[in-house]
Amino acid sequence: MQQQIVTVLGATGSIGTNTLDVILRHPERYQVYALSAATQIDKLIAACEVHRPKHAVVLDEVNAELLSQGLRLRGIETHVSFGAQALVDISVAPEVTTVMAAIVGAAGMSATLAAAKASKRVLLANKETLVLAGQLFMDAASHSGCVLLPIDSEHNAIFQALPESYREKPYQSSLSEVGIERILLTASGGPFRTREIETFSQITVAEAVKHPNWSMGRKISVDSASMMNKGLEVIEARWLFNAPAEQIQVVVHPQSVVHSMVQYRDGSVLAQLGSPDMRTPIAYGLAYPERIDAGVKALDLFAIGRLDFSPPDFARFPCLGLAFAALKEGGAAPAVLNAANEIAVEAFLNEKIKFTEIPMVIESALSQLSILPYQSIDELLDADSQSRAFAVQYIERKLTSC
Ligand code: NAD
Ligand code: MG
Repeated sequence: MQQQIVTVLGATGSIGTNTLDVILRHPERYQVYALSAATQIDKLIAACEVHRPKHAVVLDEVNAELLSQGLRLRGIETHVSFGAQALVDISVAPEVTTVMAAIVGAAGMSATLAAAKASKRVLLANKETLVLAGQLFMDAASHSGCVLLPIDSEHNAIFQALPESYREKPYQSSLSEVGIERILLTASGGPFRTREIETFSQITVAEAVKHPNWSMGRKISVDSASMMNKGLEVIEARWLFNAPAEQIQVVVHPQSVVHSMVQYRDGSVLAQLGSPDMRTPIAYGLAYPERIDAGVKALDLFAIGRLDFSPPDFARFPCLGLAFAALKEGGAAPAVLNAANEIAVEAFLNEKIKFTEIPMVIESALSQLSILPYQSIDELLDADSQSRAFAVQYIERKLTSC
């Protein structure tokens, strides 16, 4: 067994921390090469102390200085750098075999793409990369022949339930050609699945970030509460599995035990089940095609007792419909959707806008910006910047008119 040399992008986040937990259980299999974080320096120092990476990368010079001081005090010899190019460097370094892409938002795209182009084993948690640049990313991954393993629990479940030949090379055929009718993408429905819709405008940040089943970063928690997370995941599934939108069905399943399913032509439905613990898909990605201990409690079906399923409520969760619409529109529409959502969620977390204003910001961006086809990453990044600028202005106008 050859040891994997791992870079963890977004090492201080929820996925990053869980990844390091799994790695620590298998020192003979994994060695950490580099860790990155934006600004959570104390957490990064603690991780460097345990994993002794060669490199650590942070957002900017100020944080790099803080990190260097902290490491020096503890006698840790990790080399410190900062910025976007440094993230790319630790993702493509020749000794690196595996990159965990767990930065949140479009900020994670460049390094993730670079890792794919450099033929690394890419463990993809950063779904925004696929929403922003799905086709170009998948083209790059196919071209380099990199091993791409989805970490998002639903996509990991689907990957496990797909035929082996298809999941590794989805663009050499189609779902229909391998006997698949639909992908059933499960959704917990988030914390507001049954809340009185009339009270949605009073939703607080604390309520929105408190997911009933999963413990996650703040942005994805708000996305789950608005069901934009599921919308982003539909787009993610479209690209990962070469799946037309008509073959992706969202199924609300409040227990988050069935992580998603694949429905075959002969009537079979293959599902992957497990406790809602991200260490399962992370361990799957790290060890694929083998299986390793992830530290996850065995699923107790008797304790769960029942599993419920229902269709999603598009009126309650307009973000889900906006994501389907952006996918259907194509071109740079998903990039515009994603960028406007990032700005709107940030504004909601900073208590500048209401929960119910998140879809308004996104809808305005989608309807008022001209959505163009694109040829290159630069054109997509342009659409991303325009959408961010539009959303910021929209929110500022709203604030000044109140
Ligand atoms: P998080 O907020 O807990 O962590 C994000 C990490 O990214 C942190 O290490 C942070 O320092 C870093 N970061 C943030 N902004 C950055 C920037 N501008 N430049 C560089 N680094 C930056 O987020 P998370 O919950 O761990 O989610 C990470 C990604 O994984 C997201 O794309 C999310 O959608 C996806 N994901 C998360 C979960 C989950 O259970 N948490 C499940 C499925 C998918
Ligand atoms: Mg998910």
